[in-house]
Amino acid sequence: MPTYEYKCLECEHVFEEFHSANETREECPRCGGRLRRLFHPVGVIFKGSGFYTTDYKKSSDNGGEKALTPGKLEEGFEMMKDDLRERREKEKKEKQEEKASSHSSSQS
Ligand SMILES: [Zn+2]
Repeated sequence: MPTYEYKCLECEHVFEEFHSANETREECPRCGGRLRRLFHPVGVIFKGSGFYTTDYKKSSDNGGEKALTPGKLEEGFEMMKDDLRERREKEKKEKQEEKASSHSSSQS
């Protein structure tokens, strides 16, 4: 269970609480005042470079399948871009034809 640290906005009392992520403490146990949750990025900090490199190797070993996803996404994005460009060119042509036809009709 994660540890959360709270600071009371009224009496500045700081204390730690163990509870699940979807719970919050709202009242100071000391004075009943409003609390502010303090965030400690303890789980995010990599202590030493050794831990980081082993973790990196691990994730790259079984991340072979994952690596395909961004490529596929990019491919899809490129297709979308092509489609968009085609559509724009079509619209341009249609507008030009519209102009040309209205121009010629006004002349006659
Ligand atoms: Zn308090």
